[in-house]
Amino acid sequence: MPDGAPSGVTVHQTLPRRVLAGLGARHEIPAETERLGAERVLLVSTRSSRGPADELAAALGSSLAARFDGPVVHTPVEVTREAVAAAERAGADCVVAIGGGSAIGLAKALSGRTALPQIAVPTTYAGSEVTPNLGETENGVKTTRRDPALAPGTVVYDAELTLTLPKGLTLTSALNALAHAIEALWARDATAASDGLAAESVDGVLTTLPVVLADPDDIAARERLQSSAWLAGLCLAQTRMGLHHQLAHVLGGTFDLPHAELHALLLPHVMGFNLPAVPRTGERLARIAGGDPVAAVARLARSHEGPTTLGELGVPSDGLRAAAERVAAAPYPNPREADADEVTELLRQAW
Ligand code: NAD
Repeated sequence: MPDGAPSGVTVHQTLPRRVLAGLGARHEIPAETERLGAERVLLVSTRSSRGPADELAAALGSSLAARFDGPVVHTPVEVTREAVAAAERAGADCVVAIGGGSAIGLAKALSGRTALPQIAVPTTYAGSEVTPNLGETENGVKTTRRDPALAPGTVVYDAELTLTLPKGLTLTSALNALAHAIEALWARDATAASDGLAAESVDGVLTTLPVVLADPDDIAARERLQSSAWLAGLCLAQTRMGLHHQLAHVLGGTFDLPHAELHALLLPHVMGFNLPAVPRTGERLARIAGGDPVAAVARLARSHEGPTTLGELGVPSDGLRAAAERVAAAPYPNPREADADEVTELLRQAW
């Protein structure tokens, strides 16, 4: 139970799904499509996943019906319409998505419109593959919805697919995962189960991320980092996210910012703001981090060779107040209440 949570009954709900995890797990995908009775697979991938997508296409042989390689960040509905048309033309009976949150999101959006069963093969640490959430953009407006039917029925975690992640994306995507776990620890609807997932996830990310950054080919560390991101995704699915995710949604949507970099740079600022209101969570994080958790996360975030401030990311300083007002006007559940002045101050520090 997090600090300040109302006493009473907690609800823990999990989604039914199969997860295949391990080095080489991707080789099980053809058998997994057979298990689903699929004979006409639509393969969704991005350019960066071309290698594993080509390998899978060859392994699927005649059950590959079509490929779609145009996923775009934040799931624009125009792209989803193209993917639905491609699925219909091909007579697809299953969709397999290989890539980051953008590829996984497109498959969720496609499945939401066609009811095609999904196999998700994530190559980043974003965690979307285990959540019922979907954010979509239309005419520049991002809307999100939550529906258990959107969650992929099978997820395949193969850490070998993360070896090609550049160092910057490894860092920022892992901090994106860490943000899910940390917000789950202080969530009002945290349960004993989400607490356990979150604590193990935070420990795994803080322990293995420095190892992976020092040696990106350390496959054992990559494997634990990926498992930690899986647990973080489960946290995202099972608890309601707070101020950190709200800031990322509002700023990302308003200024069209890169998802993982935005999460990475915001996290230490939100931790610094929230932790005084949840001392037990702070102590717990300090035990896991072996010291000041805000400093530990800030050190990681600042080690990014790309943008580490909102200003560098392209947010105009005169846009901070309006974003803060939007956040304060309809706050996500957060352990510390934040008025528009406080949110503006937090954003100024991050700027
Ligand atoms: P992404 O999928 O946009 O990928 C970022 C970049 O990394 C892309 O250029 C991609 O091609 C490249 N890439 C991905 N995997 C790679 C690999 N293994 N090697 C080399 N390059 C690789 O970014 P993301 O951060 O994974 O996902 C962000 C999107 O996912 C956003 O739209 C976000 O809203 C969504 N998301 C949704 C949820 C959810 O629960 N619905 C959760 C997290 C993220």
